[in-house]
Amino acid sequence: MIEKESRVADCGMLFDDWDREHLWHPYTSTLNPLPTYKVISASGNRLKLADGRELIDGMSSWWCACHGYNHPVLNEAVRRQLEKMSHVMFGGITHEPAIELGKRLLEMAPPSMHNIFYADSGSVSVEVAMKMAVQAAVSRSGSHDKTNFATIRSGYHGDTWNAMSVCDPVTGMHSAFGSALPVRYFVPQPRSRFDGEWNPEDIEPLAGLLAEKSGEIAAVILEPVVQGAGGMWFYHPEYLRQARKLCDKYGVWLIFDEIATGFWRTGRCFAWEHAGVEPDIMCVGKGLTGGYMTMAAVLTTREVADTISRGEAGVMMHGPTFMGNPLACSVAIASLDLLRGQDMGALVGDMEQRIKEYLAPARSLECVTDVRVLGSIGVVEVDRPVDVGIFQKECVARGIWIRPFGRNVYIMPPYITPDEDLRTLCREMIATVRTVCCQNSL
Ligand code: PMP
Repeated sequence: MIEKESRVADCGMLFDDWDREHLWHPYTSTLNPLPTYKVISASGNRLKLADGRELIDGMSSWWCACHGYNHPVLNEAVRRQLEKMSHVMFGGITHEPAIELGKRLLEMAPPSMHNIFYADSGSVSVEVAMKMAVQAAVSRSGSHDKTNFATIRSGYHGDTWNAMSVCDPVTGMHSAFGSALPVRYFVPQPRSRFDGEWNPEDIEPLAGLLAEKSGEIAAVILEPVVQGAGGMWFYHPEYLRQARKLCDKYGVWLIFDEIATGFWRTGRCFAWEHAGVEPDIMCVGKGLTGGYMTMAAVLTTREVADTISRGEAGVMMHGPTFMGNPLACSVAIASLDLLRGQDMGALVGDMEQRIKEYLAPARSLECVTDVRVLGSIGVVEVDRPVDVGIFQKECVARGIWIRPFGRNVYIMPPYITPDEDLRTLCREMIATVRTVCCQNSL
């Protein structure tokens, strides 16, 4: 813990005592809160601190600010929409921003996607996807028992109730909520690396589970290829192909949570493309609005949508107040158009090569157990849990912004990051790992 006096003496206006006393930040104790650095503005790939220093952003504000901050095109999209209407209910009403965004999403999504449900956040979209799966499974099978879910360990799908229930049962939030959480089926995480050999044994636990329990299971939910907050693990795309076959064989829907992986983060527009198999239901969020405001979408096939509509309720049972918010839709359209106006495959492919090169020296640190890079995601895994407070203090002193989690120190910088800043970010990241995580570096 950093003491109040030394924080003030060290950093002037950088920390706010009122904030520390009253505001909850993500996953934070009120008794011993982590320091929160005051940011007064953000532009491009830089965050400006209250004491005037600038930090090179390595996080894209948890994957979402893919075009960086204060982008003139995105600002203008919000301003233009603000003059027309900031919000209007979606029940019984529609508008151009919702329609135009939907058209773009379907052009970018797997070809079988046909219907779109706009949700408020990534977690809510996971709730909606799970509700869709249950409604469609019950309607298709005629069985009210087919309402559970299967997933792999080390996943992360959000913080709301059902999303939490499919997060990793050990490192996720299960222990805090105990029997209040629905009990799901978990199989081991595939250990075949994205860039390694496929080991057919990886799929056996899922095959065994579905053979035995498919009568109870509505859907399998997976983060395709990249497991994000649950461990920053990149697994072999063959797992998805095998999972698709099994889901078809046993009449179980397949949900892909592309909230973190979407919009070119892994080098493809969506991560399903690495495997070439389509889900029945898919969640997108985070980068959807270029990080400007909260919005997500659930996409599904005509088959799922119509099966729900033929079911008992006859409708999709969800309808949030801010559904299809026009401001969010407008900035999302502008964000998608920025992506579609560039050769993102080449851009992210180039970023991948450079992150690989710049992070390579981390391999020689004795506390580093793995370095992996996919698309514009770079991970340095260390042999012990990282102290976030100490790590971030060192990062800020070095002019970079990274938030490690567990044993993983990782970056997913905005796509507009200049090469010089990417190099500095990786260099200082390695220096911070050496200083904070490794006792005896080489
Ligand atoms: N799914 C995945 C894969 C995520 O990475 C996240 C966000 N970390 C979520 C769901 C939840 O999204 P949100 O924070 O917008 O609720």
